[in-house]
Amino acid sequence: MPAVDRLCLIGVGLIGGSLALALKQAGEVGSVIGVGRGAANLEEALRIGIIDEASHDPASAVEGADMVVLAVPVGATGRVCEQIRDHLDAEAVLTDVGSVKGDVVAQVSAAFGGVPANFVPGHPIAGTEKSGASAAFPTLYHDRRVLLTPLPETRPEALARVRRVWEIAGAEVETMDVAHHDAVLAATSHLPHMLAFGLVDSLARREDSGEIFRYAAGGFRDFTRIASSDPVMWRDICLHNRQALLDAMARFEMEMAELRQAIENGDADTLAEIFSRAKAARDDFAR
Ligand code: NAP
Repeated sequence: MPAVDRLCLIGVGLIGGSLALALKQAGEVGSVIGVGRGAANLEEALRIGIIDEASHDPASAVEGADMVVLAVPVGATGRVCEQIRDHLDAEAVLTDVGSVKGDVVAQVSAAFGGVPANFVPGHPIAGTEKSGASAAFPTLYHDRRVLLTPLPETRPEALARVRRVWEIAGAEVETMDVAHHDAVLAATSHLPHMLAFGLVDSLARREDSGEIFRYAAGGFRDFTRIASSDPVMWRDICLHNRQALLDAMARFEMEMAELRQAIENGDADTLAEIFSRAKAARDDFAR
């Protein structure tokens, strides 16, 4: 008996597609129906073998599925939930992969008139700057963390099923409180994306941008890779993790002000101290 008999994947892109491929490769899913708005991405997903059936209608697609994974930009969560609400099987487990958890839980709760007992909010800490079905690959979650943020309403059986699915995909699963998740991810993921988008945009808008990019070296390429990420996905993350991101940005602005002050003052000791502390932390993290 596979872990999932019939999987309904709403949003067949990098994140959802990679999960479906991992389950298929492990022989742990009976069939996969994929839901999307356009035809081209679903046709590609069928061709690669991510999904066995394609649909443009979330309502009919969830019927008969024992697990439904929402893998759309976080801003689309509420609308999709309103569409599937009256069509989910009573025992079906609903989970998501959104990069923001508090606002997603609020959208799901508003659509269902309360948090469904079979809803397990989730977030794989894995990804690339690529998107769409063609970007998916089955080993994306190998040795990566997945954070699940179960709620008081969440049934333990639903949590256990979602945990198992991610473990089959090769991930290490941890549970975390919703608000804590959003604060931590604002600092470690959402803020760095703002820095990369902001830096590349400010350089691109300079008159001498051609020359700047021509002479940019490996460090610039490494630092700005994530500025190639999907703009719609990141627009949604900013709008739906607003306060936690603003808090992280405020702390970072203080750090920048300190650095700026040290440079202005020619304060070699402070500069060396900041860089040494950062190098030690980075070396430790990268070990
Ligand atoms: P993606 O590759 O762009 O895939 C998302 C899919 O959702 C698209 O194929 C798109 O297909 C569909 N979609 C887009 N807007 C929609 C809407 N309004 N209604 C219904 N379907 C819609 O994105 P992804 O990277 O897989 O990200 C999916 C989710 O995972 C996001 O919530 C993101 O926050 C989260 N996440 C991403 C990463 C990452 O590094 N990329 C990491 C962790 C979590 P159609 O255009 O055909 O509808």
